[in-house]
Amino acid sequence: MSNPLLIPFDTAPFSKIKNEHFKPAFIEAIADARAEIDAISQANEAPTFENTIVALDFSGQQLDRISSVFFNLNSAETNAEIQKIAQEVSPLLTEFSNDITLNQDLFQRIKTVYDQKETLDLTPEESTLLEKRYKSFSRNGANLPEEKKKRLREIDAELAKLKLQFGENVLAETNKYQKHLTQESDLDGLPEGEKEAAAQLAKSKDLDGWLITLDYPSYIPFMKYASNRELRKELSIAFGSKGFHQDALDNQENILKITRLRHERAVLLGYKSHAHFVLEERMAETPEKVYTFLNELLEKAKPAAEREFAELEQFAKDLDGISQLEKWDSAYYSEKLKQKLFNLDDELLKPYFKLENVIAGVFKVSEKLFGLQFEEVFDIDKYHEDVKTYRIYDAKKELVAIFYADFHPRAGKRGGAWMTSYKSQYLENGKNIRPHISNVCNFTKPTASKPSLLTFNEVTTLFHEFGHGLHGMLANTTYPSLSGTSVYWDFVELPSQILENWCYEKEALKLFATHYQTGELIPMELVTKIKESSTFQEGLATLRQISFGLLDMSWHAADPSHITDVKKQEELAFIDTDLFPSIAETCMSTSFSHIFQGGYSSGYYSYKWAEVLDADAFAYFKEKGIFDKEVATKFMDHVLSKGGTENPMVLYKRFRGAEPKIEALLERAGLLDTPVNK
Ligand SMILES: [Zn+2]
Repeated sequence: MSNPLLIPFDTAPFSKIKNEHFKPAFIEAIADARAEIDAISQANEAPTFENTIVALDFSGQQLDRISSVFFNLNSAETNAEIQKIAQEVSPLLTEFSNDITLNQDLFQRIKTVYDQKETLDLTPEESTLLEKRYKSFSRNGANLPEEKKKRLREIDAELAKLKLQFGENVLAETNKYQKHLTQESDLDGLPEGEKEAAAQLAKSKDLDGWLITLDYPSYIPFMKYASNRELRKELSIAFGSKGFHQDALDNQENILKITRLRHERAVLLGYKSHAHFVLEERMAETPEKVYTFLNELLEKAKPAAEREFAELEQFAKDLDGISQLEKWDSAYYSEKLKQKLFNLDDELLKPYFKLENVIAGVFKVSEKLFGLQFEEVFDIDKYHEDVKTYRIYDAKKELVAIFYADFHPRAGKRGGAWMTSYKSQYLENGKNIRPHISNVCNFTKPTASKPSLLTFNEVTTLFHEFGHGLHGMLANTTYPSLSGTSVYWDFVELPSQILENWCYEKEALKLFATHYQTGELIPMELVTKIKESSTFQEGLATLRQISFGLLDMSWHAADPSHITDVKKQEELAFIDTDLFPSIAETCMSTSFSHIFQGGYSSGYYSYKWAEVLDADAFAYFKEKGIFDKEVATKFMDHVLSKGGTENPMVLYKRFRGAEPKIEALLERAGLLDTPVNK
């Protein structure tokens, strides 16, 4: 009968949707979108900004709505049937998007408009849209002669295979190793819960005793707590040598092939290197800027890291007579030293962070900053009873956004926390269409006797995701593809990370951090401890992040064809950042999935880049007051509402009056002149 996904809808009609509706809806919506694209590319009229670029941006809207409902559900409330549908529709969607990228008629029309851009008198937002659309074709080879295009397709196919192979090898290496322990004393130091988990793991494989594997939930606690140094060494080397055993699962050859193909692809398209290609669409712009950034940070962070290293070494020596601190000692003694200095227990803090209070807190902070009003509503269709729905209004009672909050774990939800949207904001015939935004997290569910109490880490997670949420909610752009979080990805974490800062401020905490039983406000000495412990060993952590950024750049910012020795290349990249003795048996690159399998190549620096942005932006608030209306309004007007309508550096400078500087981060991280012992 009628398919609710194919009838135009405002909020998603979850209760009417059945699994069998998805596939036919996708097929029909793809056909409709295809017809819209054909109408644009085959039009008789000469191409204009309106009939080509704008028309393209507003095409396929129904397909977008269906996709967001479907893929959001596949993350937050999935089941075997939905997963199977995802397997079936994903190739259809890939095929459709490839057909657009390869549509030469369409590209010729876009190019005609692009070539006239100087004479078209476009607004900055229109220019950005045109540039973005043109680049989405040219960066995929649309301008190349047929022969080079063919080579580009070959490279893409080959790269896809190699990246997959890289990831499969890492996974196989991870699964291949397990350490079977039969004496309880081998687990000395581990908390009871971790021991139980290790025993469970053994049992699940029909073994007695305990099992430690290279999966994070097993490996990390062992390295942090196990007092048996020999075992830590064995585990650490096993972990660090994934893909580096000169066998069928070795990744060295894959790395050399991947980096050479990436370089060839970039050169084919007219770029100096893969990093130049990637960074063209990043706030950092060029490899030179990334290097300057990382090296400046390195210069400032290294003295602090060296002091922290010396302190850790002394601590290990005093405690256990360790003369040379090794990599496998780092997590263990750090944890011990942290306990000694701060003795900060999650259980101590949790009573002050009842989920409902924290939600009220993030709403209150948003109200004070941006004048937002939150109203929980019960007339919006939802996909699970745990989901809460809100209408958000501005000070004039105009609707700003619809907000879905889905905070508790359940079987069909993947782990982690994220922000997503069911509908983006845009202007249509002068009408401002408001967005539908969602936050999904995995916080402990309340029980009959106990409410949901958050760890401090979960509190900052909630603020973080809500910051992304605000970026979506406060969007105020013309075109859907430039709206909200559609920004360069080294800029996208600014709204989320900046909001975390309020969690450490007394003025903000007093709005919501009260004991769930006594109503008592969180003691300020605890707040001070939280603040201080958050920058514990920040120098060493920073050095580590810089080293990964430098390694990433060393593989991607220059012609890699002369590189034949992966380990040597890595040692060269780490030369200024490694404080621990090098270990011959291990290699970071051979399991560096972020850059060789995932999408982080030439992008690892952005973790630190985003921190610099949020620290610099928050310093402005600190200077004028963390609830200063003027600064908040500037942040809303120039950053949160603007999406990707202009280059992020332009937006940022309009907000801040200057480019971001690293000093605020150094100060916040205690790296300027570190008094190591607090
Ligand atoms: Zn984020």
